[in-house]
Amino acid sequence: MELQDRGKMHECQEKQLAGICRKLLDEGKGDVILAYAGGEIENSTIPLFIRGCGEIERLKYDEYCYPNLAKYLLENKGKTGIVAKPCDARAIAMYIAENQLARENVYIIGMECNGMKNMDGSLAPGCCECSVHVPPLFDVLVKCNGEVVEREQYTNTGAPAGYEDDAVFNAVTGESGNAGDDNGVNEDKPLEDKSLERFKKELDKCILCFACRQACYGCYCPVCFMDRTMPAWISTDPGMGAKMVYHLGRAMHLAGRCVECGACERVCPSGVKIRYLIKEINSFCKDVYGYRAGMNPGEYPVLAAFNKDDKEIGFLRSE
Ligand code: SF4
Ligand code: SF4
Repeated sequence: MELQDRGKMHECQEKQLAGICRKLLDEGKGDVILAYAGGEIENSTIPLFIRGCGEIERLKYDEYCYPNLAKYLLENKGKTGIVAKPCDARAIAMYIAENQLARENVYIIGMECNGMKNMDGSLAPGCCECSVHVPPLFDVLVKCNGEVVEREQYTNTGAPAGYEDDAVFNAVTGESGNAGDDNGVNEDKPLEDKSLERFKKELDKCILCFACRQACYGCYCPVCFMDRTMPAWISTDPGMGAKMVYHLGRAMHLAGRCVECGACERVCPSGVKIRYLIKEINSFCKDVYGYRAGMNPGEYPVLAAFNKDDKEIGFLRSE
């Protein structure tokens, strides 16, 4: 898709979004709507909390609306509207599945998505290998061509709910999903280097700032294991051992829960590309249990569910 077409697509979506926000506030369906406003720096956006029609003027929706707003839902206990790209909607579905959020308290304005960009114009991490272009959960959907579809209406058309559905995406955008390079790792391409050296090379860059944890929808424990002092999980020296504990611990906590938004990689100030570990676990969950995080809020997270027919592999695998 040409750049100008992409711009036009977001313009259409932004216009519809403003109308939907106005309607939501008028109808009292949300005390606040979580959306995006332009940032001070070029090619950036910041979260916008819309509480009144006056704030709708600041609304922005373009290819730099990368931040996942879902985490703000946990701080907002009232009725909340939210602008949700597919990965954001998957995070919301996980919050519902993990009993962190009541479905009736959130009104989801789903945005069909063609991929977001980094500030330098390159495709954002996560978007490179994304295959979910329609949010699997929404109350109203704004398609790439600006068409607005209510949830019931969408279901009635018989269209699939976005799960790996490139047909819907292609029909609207006239192109296939993004197949950009993502550090040489995507689901169709086996990991080329699973070695300890690769792991250590990435960890070497890590400064243990925990920005990846803060950006991840899935890290919401009131006190992270890394911040605990009784017992302390790491030494005060931020050496390789501490980095390993953090990244392996985080990978285990995210096992089967990662919604592939790429936020962790995008916010890293040191360019650490460790997401391949979590992606590997995601692939495992998909292959073995047919599970993909956030595709169905009614489904238990795969490692929180017990099914006696499950294959006994994984930690117990002996071969
Ligand atoms: S681990 Fe990274 S890619 Fe996965 S949900 Fe968290 S921030 Fe997104
Ligand atoms: S954001 Fe980057 S540097 Fe900071 S803890 Fe995460 S991987 Fe390490």
